[in-house]
Amino acid sequence: MKKNTKIETKLIHSGEPNPRIGGAVSMPIFQSAMYEYCGEEKYQDIKYIRLNNTPNHIVLQEKLAALENAESALVTASGMASITASLLTFLEKGDHLLVQDTLYGGTHTFVNHEIEKWGIEFDFIDGNNLNNWEEKLRPNTKVIYVESITNPLIKVTDLKAVVEFAKNHELISIVDNTFPSPINFRPTEWGFDLSCHSCTKYLNGHSDIVAGCVIGSKNLIEKITHKLNHLGGTLDPHACFLLHRGIKTLSLRMERHNANALRVAQFLEDHPGVDKVNYPGLESNSHHKNAKRYFDGFSGMLSFELKGGMSSAKQFMEKLNFSIIAPSLGGVESLVTLPSTTSHSGMSTNERKNSGISNSLIRMSVGIEHMDDLIADLKQALELH
Ligand SMILES: *Cc1c(COP(=O)(O)O)cnc(C)c1O
Repeated sequence: MKKNTKIETKLIHSGEPNPRIGGAVSMPIFQSAMYEYCGEEKYQDIKYIRLNNTPNHIVLQEKLAALENAESALVTASGMASITASLLTFLEKGDHLLVQDTLYGGTHTFVNHEIEKWGIEFDFIDGNNLNNWEEKLRPNTKVIYVESITNPLIKVTDLKAVVEFAKNHELISIVDNTFPSPINFRPTEWGFDLSCHSCTKYLNGHSDIVAGCVIGSKNLIEKITHKLNHLGGTLDPHACFLLHRGIKTLSLRMERHNANALRVAQFLEDHPGVDKVNYPGLESNSHHKNAKRYFDGFSGMLSFELKGGMSSAKQFMEKLNFSIIAPSLGGVESLVTLPSTTSHSGMSTNERKNSGISNSLIRMSVGIEHMDDLIADLKQALELH
């Protein structure tokens, strides 16, 4: 495919088998655990579902790599599998990791409670304070890990500065790009080494599978693949098929997510019952400058605080008709959640407080419903007593 082919076209055509298998317009599911021996000489070349190299994996991996203009990609059993396999590939006993302090709850808990057991040291860094990164850097630092939009405070760090810092100090730079999706941000184009996704979210978009991927250079992805072959976090062919199907509509869905979330954020910002809105698309937001520089859209995720704290938050959420109270994000339906009781419940109240996540912070994943219906629903739910 030509280099200047647009992402909307790549979503449909990149990676598709040529010639089509049996003429099938839609990639069939190859539900076979193993494949007949064909002269392979290395373990990694044997075709087997756990080795992530069956026809459904290959098509999907080529498509994912094309979306972010990278050489290679690996699909994994979950977003966490892509993150843990990536970190454990490039960090070993005695190494040090720099990691952003406002992470997805699962990643935060993994770093904070697991990696020291492998003899890996780490320091949390403030994404917006470059001096702080220099201070925390050590001779044994190997990896810097950030999120392109953080959860649930929706912060956007200076992503180019992260890449430059990594290059200057010969670190591997990894970014969790789940929230923007490849439509809004493509990390490789800015020099990141690796981009991880929870494909459970926007890439699949239909809230019906758990999956992940990591995208980057052929050399690095090959190393992670070998690690994952041992760790075992592979994606089943049927889930590959569903993810492949979901990805084809990513651009249409993201356009609507971007537009709906901006409108919702503006509505909430102007509402007297709302204390604070976190959304990088708002000009008043302190992360707007970075978001505008790096992103083609601001995504569908926002968080906010109501006046009246926890009791208002609970009442408001119960009154919503079109937003389901549920964790997770990135599907076609709008969802609301209190991160303190779901994604970030693994952190202590004190850890949450230090990260600026209050117990009554509401996070909303804005879906692709009609804007007017979403706004009318929010409006009635904000009439609290
Ligand atoms: C959901 C999520 C993950 C974890 O993904 P799973 O698919 O649930 O394993 C990681 N990072 C971010 C930003 C997420 O939203």
